[in-house]
Amino acid sequence: MIGTQPPHESTETPGTARALTVAIVGSGPAGCYTGQFLAKSLPGAEITVFESLPAPYGLVRYGVAADHQGTKGVARQFDRLFTRDGVRFVGNVTVGRDVEFARIAANFDVVVLATGLPGDRELDVPRDPRAQVVGAGTLLRALNGFPRDRIRPCAPLGPDVVVVGMGNVAVDVLRLLAKDTGDFAGTDIDDEMLRRLRPAPPSTIAALARSGAPRSKCDAAMLRELVSLPGIGITVSGMDERDEGPVVDVLRPFVSTPRGEGGRTRVTFHFGLEPERITSREGRTVLTARDRNAARQEFVADTVVTAIGFTHGGAEDETAPRHDWSGDHVYRVGWFSRGAQGTIARNRKDAQQVARRIADDVAAGRIRPAKDGFRAVAGPLADRMVGFEAWQRIEAAEHRSALPGRCRRKITDLGHMLAVATGLDEHERKELA
Ligand SMILES: Cc1cc2nc3c(=O)[nH]c(=O)nc-3n(C[C@H](O)[C@H](O)[C@H](O)COP(=O)(O)OP(=O)(O)OC[C@H]3O[C@@H](n4cnc5c(N)ncnc54)[C@H](O)[C@@H]3O)c2cc1C
Repeated sequence: MIGTQPPHESTETPGTARALTVAIVGSGPAGCYTGQFLAKSLPGAEITVFESLPAPYGLVRYGVAADHQGTKGVARQFDRLFTRDGVRFVGNVTVGRDVEFARIAANFDVVVLATGLPGDRELDVPRDPRAQVVGAGTLLRALNGFPRDRIRPCAPLGPDVVVVGMGNVAVDVLRLLAKDTGDFAGTDIDDEMLRRLRPAPPSTIAALARSGAPRSKCDAAMLRELVSLPGIGITVSGMDERDEGPVVDVLRPFVSTPRGEGGRTRVTFHFGLEPERITSREGRTVLTARDRNAARQEFVADTVVTAIGFTHGGAEDETAPRHDWSGDHVYRVGWFSRGAQGTIARNRKDAQQVARRIADDVAAGRIRPAKDGFRAVAGPLADRMVGFEAWQRIEAAEHRSALPGRCRRKITDLGHMLAVATGLDEHERKELA
């Protein structure tokens, strides 16, 4: 095992009741909140949280924008879960690859699937394969220091970018692209990736929304943060005088008076545009869209970023639960259960409900403690698993190596992460020397 958290010796000692064994697959908000509720409602349960990556917390670490450190702060709350007796973090172990789901199901009394939705939903329009199109999730993962060996590289975005979608993730993309490099103070943005993908803020960003402004899904507060960025121009089209709502209120002033002709980046919001196709012309990517009057508009760009939701990974994604990952004692929670909607807090509500169902099933005798849990599956995982203390070594190294003006520098190489986890960090020593 990488790290020093020992396996629990036994789930049964003479004279004491057998402990309920729980496997949670995925350490994002849904998995962690479920662990918290179960630890409270079923004291004495042995809870094992399996996580594909050596680092816990899913999209809190690799989705939430690097300049929203306040939101990422929920990780401190989740840290406390793993210091409780009977709760174990098993990082760097992918259920379905490193250990079969059937083995987990056979050896734990309760299994909770909290695996999220890692794939970007694709725009359902004809698309020339030469066009440069990237999903917002992929882009934000890259800027969040996601392990390089697990992400497809993306070419530089170029000076003209189109963002399709108008939810909070789309606004994250707009803000991160439009920010000046100097605006990232105090963040943990992956500077190398930022330089590679966006050496300078784009000159133009067109934000395309299918719906009208009143039905936009983004929060007005997120939009306000974007339009308040210094040095950017704002133009709005496709908004009706009768439109109302919080998003309309934020953008209304720019309808009659566009801001910042000479701005560093000109952001133009287009409402009521339906994308029709994406083609490639003379090395550039062209998105054609149709407005409410069926008039066509062409956007000639270097990159189209799609921010229209999330789905399961592709068919080749071996981490995605298959339909046969089920059973009477198997529960689902978070994005994997309800789809890619809602904030971190929404997962807490979900987790509370699932934990209550599990506690009810235990109280009613529908589930009885009978299986050995982690002890039964630990053997073959011993060499690869990253325990919580080992993860904390990785985290400490990331804080130590933060560049000036940054709060941490994420390690983006899995081998390096594992070396730091073991405490045998040749690489880090060389870097610090
Ligand atoms: C780009 C982006 C930005 C966001 N920003 C915000 C924000 O600012 N504020 C906010 O409130 N919400 C935000 N959200 C929403 C929030 O991140 C989600 O609501 C939340 O993360 C969903 O939690 P989850 O646990 O279901 O999934 P995830 O967070 O995706 O966690 C799933 C975990 O399961 C692991 N896993 C998957 N398969 C396996 C397997 N087979 N074996 C082991 N482990 C596995 C994954 O590695 C991952 O760690 C954002 C979402 C995205 C995509």
